[in-house]
Amino acid sequence: MTAQRLADLVRDVPDFPKPGIVFKDITPLLASPAGFAAAVEAMRRLAPPEVDQVVGLEARGFLFAAPVALTLGAGFVPVRKHGKLTGPTVQRSYALEYGTETLAVHADGIRPGARVLLVDDVLATGGTLAAAAHLVSQLGGDLVGVIVLLELAQLKGREFLRSRGVPEVNCVLGPRDT
Ligand code: AMP
Repeated sequence: MTAQRLADLVRDVPDFPKPGIVFKDITPLLASPAGFAAAVEAMRRLAPPEVDQVVGLEARGFLFAAPVALTLGAGFVPVRKHGKLTGPTVQRSYALEYGTETLAVHADGIRPGARVLLVDDVLATGGTLAAAAHLVSQLGGDLVGVIVLLELAQLKGREFLRSRGVPEVNCVLGPRDT
């Protein structure tokens, strides 16, 4: 499947969940067996060698991280919103446009020294991936890669993550301006 056909399976939803936001709806892509398979295969190809654990970010990141983990022969580890995991957990809060969000991972979820890949659907400001990267490092994981389906380039998340020392983001569909 061409990159353009894959990109066409992501639907722009203007003013969702609030005015001014163009929400990237991946449900048409997930509903297409060929599209979903192509997205997972593209992520597999972008992955660095010898990944031990794939971390997926709640909730849409799970949908890509889990099959990518299987294809890489790696374990899947969920990073969830605070309060969802049974614990013990380690947590990281970060600023949103309004208020804060807290992410958590099981304290024994990341094996010290494991080669860890982070996977999510959309890179926007980078706050979510930066918090997840922090959790991986805090638990002694070796963060070896970051993969997203698409990137909202105007929000400069890539630059933000670079400034935090997070490995360069690999993006399946290339930067978008909306
Ligand atoms: P950020 O922390 O700003 O990079 O936001 C990334 C997280 O928010 C990802 O987990 C995305 O699923 C979600 N997200 C942010 N902006 C959008 C958008 N325009 N469309 C879909 N998901 C988004």
